[in-house]
Amino acid sequence: TPPGDMLTVEGLSVHYGGVRAVRSIDFTVAPGQAVGIIGANGAGKTSTLKALMGLVPRSGRIRFGDTDMTAVRARDVVRHGIGYVPEGRHVFPGLTVERNLLLGAYTRPWRSGRTRRALGEAYELFPVLGEMRGRLAGALSGGQQQMLAVGRALMAEPRLLLLDEPSMGLSPKLVEDILAVLRRLREEGLSLLLVEQNAKLTFEATSDCLVMENGEVVMTGTSAELRDDVRVRRIYLGL
Ligand code: ATP
Repeated sequence: TPPGDMLTVEGLSVHYGGVRAVRSIDFTVAPGQAVGIIGANGAGKTSTLKALMGLVPRSGRIRFGDTDMTAVRARDVVRHGIGYVPEGRHVFPGLTVERNLLLGAYTRPWRSGRTRRALGEAYELFPVLGEMRGRLAGALSGGQQQMLAVGRALMAEPRLLLLDEPSMGLSPKLVEDILAVLRRLREEGLSLLLVEQNAKLTFEATSDCLVMENGEVVMTGTSAELRDDVRVRRIYLGL
């Protein structure tokens, strides 16, 4: 990973009219680092990711490497190396698995060698997608659609991947599969920013975490520290 791919967020806020969903938060994601954001429903996690992608009104500073991301339009963010797996997957049910993947490579020509190579890598990472490449995405199970959403984001060859609740609605077995994928992506040097209500998964998939409540970051630490914290155990792990 080039040393410049550091995500630096300073004083990031998101307002929806009168609602302050995110209140001046600060964090960084270093190259190759996996950072998690946990918090209850409505804490502001999704709004934080959407702000990074330029999808909601925001204020504050967002830098990725040498780029001021607040000056980048939403449709150009992916081109700067930040990929996004939205909450709820949003695959195109009426298109084939392969078409869905190719849509993720919209930043470059479909027939380019690089796109073909990225497709091969997606099928290597998710063999089931290769087997079902000609099937309609709407025919896939929830877990397979989640894999497809991740594969689609990877098609643009991001250096930082933002994931919004990839475990949502999945069985414990499929959550393990997601964890295995996240570990493999880390091994390959990708930086990850993982938003989850599933704190257990997040602690296993990341090295460092933020805890959000009411739009603010109320705790930060290594994932191991937070996993053992009495308050976190009680509120987020139900122990
Ligand atoms: P979830 O687990 O549901 O994704 P979250 O932690 O991601 O929760 P957000 O979705 O970011 O939280 O929501 C933070 C706050 O902003 C909530 O109070 C929510 O009701 C509010 N909010 C989110 N989107 C909008 C919107 N488009 N307009 C107005 N308020 C919104």
